[in-house]
Parts: sequence; structure tokens; C-alpha cells
Amino acid sequence: MPFILPECDKHVPERKKHVYIKDDTDECHIPACNVATIPGDMTERGCTYAGCRGVVGGPVKDVIQLQHGPIGCCYYPWDVRPNLAKDTNFQLVNVFSTDLRESNIVFGGEKKLYESIIEANKAFPKNQGVFVYATCVAGLIGDDIEAVAKRATAAIGKPVVAFNCPGFHGVSQSLGHHVGNEVLFNKVVGTEELADKTPYDINLVGEYNIRGDDWLILPLLEAIGLRVVCTFTGDSSIHDIAKMHQAKLNVVRCARSAKYIAEMMKDKYGTPYVEVDFYGMQQTADDLRTIAKFFGLEQKAEEVITKELADIKSEMDFYRQKFQGKKVMIYEGGPRSWHWPKAMEELGMEVNVVATTFGHEDDYEKIVSRVKNGTLLIDNPNAPELEEMMVKYKPDLFISGNKEKYLAYKYGVPFLNGHTYESKGGYMVFKGFVRFAKDMYKSIYSPAWKFIKTREAG
Ligand code: SF4
Repeated sequence: MPFILPECDKHVPERKKHVYIKDDTDECHIPACNVATIPGDMTERGCTYAGCRGVVGGPVKDVIQLQHGPIGCCYYPWDVRPNLAKDTNFQLVNVFSTDLRESNIVFGGEKKLYESIIEANKAFPKNQGVFVYATCVAGLIGDDIEAVAKRATAAIGKPVVAFNCPGFHGVSQSLGHHVGNEVLFNKVVGTEELADKTPYDINLVGEYNIRGDDWLILPLLEAIGLRVVCTFTGDSSIHDIAKMHQAKLNVVRCARSAKYIAEMMKDKYGTPYVEVDFYGMQQTADDLRTIAKFFGLEQKAEEVITKELADIKSEMDFYRQKFQGKKVMIYEGGPRSWHWPKAMEELGMEVNVVATTFGHEDDYEKIVSRVKNGTLLIDNPNAPELEEMMVKYKPDLFISGNKEKYLAYKYGVPFLNGHTYESKGGYMVFKGFVRFAKDMYKSIYSPAWKFIKTREAG
């Protein structure tokens, strides 16, 4: 039977349809996903507001990121999502909130929102606009943030963009990504013209510059002869987003959080898009070839790939030898869970458990196509399930986010923070993959594990 009920879930049999063992002969072939979490199940999912503000809108570096709600919802400082920017980290070091209190909930928060926009704009006059995000409270009391944004735009003479993303909307943070895409597409894209167009203009879509990934990708694209008009949204200005409709191609990196805007641009502007992984050597080489082919720059791409592979060969040979047969458990939000299995295989590792927090059907289709028969897939896992799988599957490395770090340590399982990385630098493309491998090596071969008395689940 491809579906299994983990032992820890004996009181929540509904979890069975979310836990699936890949079996080529089975017709169903993916776990149930993108549905509401079962009440009482300790999900690790985030809310719609988190997906909209924390993933899509938050990296934009030159706007005031204003959360409209109680102060508790605005926990988004530097260490949660290090979406770095080149010339400023304004978006990371400043947190803005309307700090709604009881009286605002009784009498409405629109006046406070308007005053907050005026005040923030006055205090930070260099900002290029204001992004306003609705939280659960703003949604429940029915504040008309669109109307406030319209009035505030007229008052400050800059775009004030309202995101209607209260946390309770949707089943996970995934809907917040969709809201973020739609609002930026409808309100910002196409509002400015690109002065110096070239035939080689592209957008990098769904790339958030975690610890500088963007700065590893861009030089390769430039070496091939391309120019990136806008990275949506890592290290981007609101003005870059305004001009992105004039690029010739959208290169979609995180398909879960940003394929929406690529689809909308295709419909409205006729801009084609390609999807890329940018993790691992073979996948990155294939991605660069795909992009270059669109522009007839294949020869240039081959030169870049040959040089990059030569530069990292000796280091990767070392890691490949060290990683032979090592078992890996991956639990990521969505796409990294399908970006990584082939990249790990390239290093001689075996991925035996893959989970996602908010993957949709197409994410699981991709995972299934990239893992071996017998691999366990878990949708929206809770902590007891992760514990059980660490005991049963005995991974040599668990790659996930900070929430799971101490769970892994408790079980003596080497851990790597794949959400925001361990090192001060990106993990993507060729040179980033060396850093990724180095961090995996440091974790797997750390002498610390032999001092930990491991626990059993239950
Ligand atoms: S679920 Fe609602 S209250 Fe909680 S962080 Fe999200 S917006 Fe705020």
C-alpha cells in the first residue's frame, strides 16, 4: 500500500492520505496536499500574510513595509529571511506596524493606518512607496485598506500598494504568494518604461536573494550576454518591478511562489517563461542552456558552463567521494524539495524522505519524477511525524529550516538549515553548490554527533 499511517498518528487517521511511499505501479502517485490542516494537528505552516509579506513583498528594498495589525504579526527581522540587497538593507533592518489595539478593533483601524503611512513617509523620506499588508485582525474588522491606500497615494505622491492578505485566508502561506503576485502585477508592473531596452533583457522571477543567491546567478547570465531587468523580488526596487513587462523572457526560479506573475505576464504582454532549478551542477548547466537557446546564445553558455565546472571540479570530486551512500531527508516549503533530489544524487547521496509545508499537486508531481521508488513523501508534516521518520529512516543528514533544527539535534541527526543557509553566502548555481556541499560536509562529519545520546521516537 503506497499510503501509510505513521505510528504517531494513530489518533489522527486522516493523516494517512498525506504520507505516501513512491510506487511507480500506483495510479494515485502523490500524497493529498494543499488542503486545510486537520484541527489539532500541530502544523508548521505559515499564514497567508506571512507568504505575502515574508516571501514576495518583503524583499523589495526601497519601500516601507507596513504591517496593518497587532504588533505580534510583525516578527520579520533580519534572521528570519535574509533577503539581502546591494546598496541598502532598509527592508531588513526596519519593521513597521500600525500596532492595532482594542479601541482600533472596536472603532476601526483605517484612520490609524492612514496616519501611520503619513508618519512613516515623513520619517523615511527616501522611500519609493509603501506596501501595506492586512493581517487577520484587519481582515476581520473589515478595514478598507484599498481605499486608505488610494487616499495615501494622493497625499504622499508615491505608490501605496495594499495587499489583502489576512492570515486566515487560504490553507497555508501559499495563498499569500498568489496575492502578492496578483497585487504587484495589477498595481505596479507596467507603470514605468524601460529607457534603454536591449534584445537580451530578461527577468529573474521568484528569486529572493537569500544570503546573496542572486549575486551568484546574475554574473553567469551577464557572462552569457543577458541583462536582468528585474529580479522579482530579491534585491529589487519597486521601479524594477514597474518595468519588468518590457523584458523578453521570464526565467522562473521559485515556481510555487511566483509562476503566477509569469503566467499573468504571458497572458497580458505575451512574455514567454522558462522554469529553472539553479541548484546542482547538471541542473544549472541545463538551465543556462535553456535560457541561452531562447536568445541564440548557446555557444556563450557552453563557454560559461565549461569554465564554471572546471573551477569547482576538484572540490566537488572531494565531496562526492565523502558523500557516497549518505542518506538525506529533505523538508522544505515547496520547490526546494524537488530542486534538490537530483542535485544530491549527483554527489552520490540518496534521498529517502521528502516533505513539503505547502506543496501543491504540481510540486509533488515533480518530486515523484525526481526520486526513486520507495522514497517517503510527507505533505505538511508535524513534529512527531518528523521525529518518527528520523528514527525509522536514519538519515545521515536532515535538511530543513530553523524550526526543525533542534528536533534533529535531539535525535543526534546532522542538520543543515536549507531555508536560509548555514554560511554567509548563497547555495545556487556552481559556486554556491560548492558552499552547499561544504556545509553538508561540515554537518555530516562534525565530531559533535558522537557526544549526543540519541533518542527514540514515542
Ligand atoms: S495568522 Fe493572523 S494573527 Fe497570526 S501572524 Fe498571520 S496574520 Fe497575524
